[in-house]
Amino acid sequence: MRMNRTLETLAFDNTHARLPEAFHARVQPTPLTNPFLVSFNPDAAALIDLDPDEAKRPEFVEYFGGGRLLPGSEPVAMLYAGHQFGHYVPQLGDGRAILLGEVRNGTGEKWDLHLKGAGFTPFSRDDDGRAVLRSTIREYLCSEAMHGLGIPTTRALCIVGSEEPVYRETLETGATLLRLAPSHVRFGSFEVFYYRRQIERVRQLADYVIEQHYPHLAAEADRYARLLSEVATRTARMIAQWQAVGFAHGVMNSDNMSILGLTLDYGPFGFLDEYNPSFICNHSDGRGRYAFHHQPDIGYFNLRCLAQALEPVVPEEPAQAALETYEATFADCYWSHMRRKVGVSESRSEDQTLIADLLTLLLADHVDYTSCFRALGEFRLTADQEKEPLRDFFLDRAGFDAWAGRYRGRLEAEGSRDDERKMRMNRVNPKYVLRNYLAQVAIERATRERDFSEIDRLREVLRDPYAEQPEMERYAAPPPDWGKTVIVSCSS
Ligand code: AMP
Ligand code: MG
Repeated sequence: MRMNRTLETLAFDNTHARLPEAFHARVQPTPLTNPFLVSFNPDAAALIDLDPDEAKRPEFVEYFGGGRLLPGSEPVAMLYAGHQFGHYVPQLGDGRAILLGEVRNGTGEKWDLHLKGAGFTPFSRDDDGRAVLRSTIREYLCSEAMHGLGIPTTRALCIVGSEEPVYRETLETGATLLRLAPSHVRFGSFEVFYYRRQIERVRQLADYVIEQHYPHLAAEADRYARLLSEVATRTARMIAQWQAVGFAHGVMNSDNMSILGLTLDYGPFGFLDEYNPSFICNHSDGRGRYAFHHQPDIGYFNLRCLAQALEPVVPEEPAQAALETYEATFADCYWSHMRRKVGVSESRSEDQTLIADLLTLLLADHVDYTSCFRALGEFRLTADQEKEPLRDFFLDRAGFDAWAGRYRGRLEAEGSRDDERKMRMNRVNPKYVLRNYLAQVAIERATRERDFSEIDRLREVLRDPYAEQPEMERYAAPPPDWGKTVIVSCSS
C-alpha cells in the first residue's frame, strides 16, 4: 500500500512524546533566517508516504527549516548521556536536534522526524544549537550512500539552507537536516538514568524500546537480557559491514550508538581511499581511539557501557553471555563479507590468510581499497598472469604474482567460473563510495556558488553503488592529490 500524503496530512504517532517528562524536554525549533531548499530526497519521502511534489511548495522549507510546526508534531529534545572518548559525560541530550514527531506510514512502520540544526534546547550547553551547511551535506550524502551499500543507517529527507551566520573555525551558514530513523534511542539514553540511580527509568526505557522495536521479546521472562543480546548482534553486524566496505565512523561515543544497530550521527567519518587499517578520519582524534581498525573493539566497549546501564534489569551472567555473542558474530559476519569480496563461495581454512595477505599487499603499496576490490572481480582464471590488469595496482609485482597464483588455485579448487564470480563480486564490492573529496566538491560548490546540483548528482550515483553507471565513471576515481588531505574534525 503506497500513499501520497501532503505535509499537513502526515500520520503522526508520537510515542516518545507520550513517555514521562523525564525522557525529554519539550522545545520549539528556532527558525532559520531566510531558509531555502538545498536538496530533497524522494526515496526518503516514500518512507513516510510524503508526496514528492510537496517539496515544491514554499511551506516545505518553513516546516523543515524550523519556521513552522507540522500539524501533529509534538517536538521534544531527547535526553541522553554517554561515554565520549572513553569518559562518562553525565548529560548530553539533543543539543541541536529536535524530534519533531513520529510518522507511522501505511505499512505500519514508524519513522522519527528528527531535525538537526534546529536551534537551542535545554541540552545545548554552551553551544549554538545549529549545524552548518557543510556538515549537513556530509550527513545527507553519507546516510543515503550507506543505505545504498546495504548498511543499516539513519536516512535523510532534505537539507534546508539559510543566511543565518554560524561561527565555527570561520563564519559559515546554518542549515537543517531532516533525519529519519525508526528510533533515535542511543546506548547513552540508558546510561543517563543508570548513573542517576533512576533504575525505574532504565526499566521504563527498556520496556518502551522492546514494545516499539523488539515486540517479539515482550512476553519473554528474560526480555532485557535478550534485548542486550540482539543489540549486540546488530551492532556486530553493522560494524562488520563498516569494516568490509572501508567506512570509519570517526566518533564512536556511546551516545552515537543506536539501540537499533543503525549507523548514527555522521560527523568526521571517512571511507578508506588507500588501504590503511590505522586510518584516523577525525582530525580531533589525535590518539586514534576511533581509528578504522579499532572500531570492532570500540563497539564492544560501547556494548559494555550499555550492559552496565542495564545491570539493574539484566543479571551478570546473561549480560556476559550477551556480550560474548558480539565477538563471534562480528568475526562470522566480517569474514563472510570478506570471502564474498574475494569471490569465494565455500569457506576454507586458508581463506583468512589469503585475504589478510592481500590486505598486506594493499597496505604496502598504498593501493586504493574500493577500486582494487572492484577490479578483483575482473580476475580471469584463463588469462595470462602477465596481462592481469590488477597487477598494475601494485609496485610489488612479484608479491602480487605470488598472491594471484594462490588465489587462482583457491578459485580453481572450488570450480569457480569467471563470469558468474564477477557478477557475485560486483554485488558486494561497490564501485562508488562517498570519498571525502567527492563530498568536498559538492560542499564547495554549495557554499561558494550556491550550486546544489552536485549534491543531487552524488546522491543519484550513490544510491546504486554496485551498478557500473558508465556515464558516472569519474565518481569512481581515487582522490586527486588535493583530495587526499581534506581535513575533517568534530566541528560541525
Ligand atoms: P555529536 O558530536 O554531534 O555527536 O554531539 C555530541 C553532543 O554535543 C550532543 O549532545 C550534541 O547535541 C551536542 N552538540 C554538538 N554540537 C552542538 C551545537 N552546535 N549546539 C548544541 N549542542 C551541540
Ligand atoms: Mg551525537
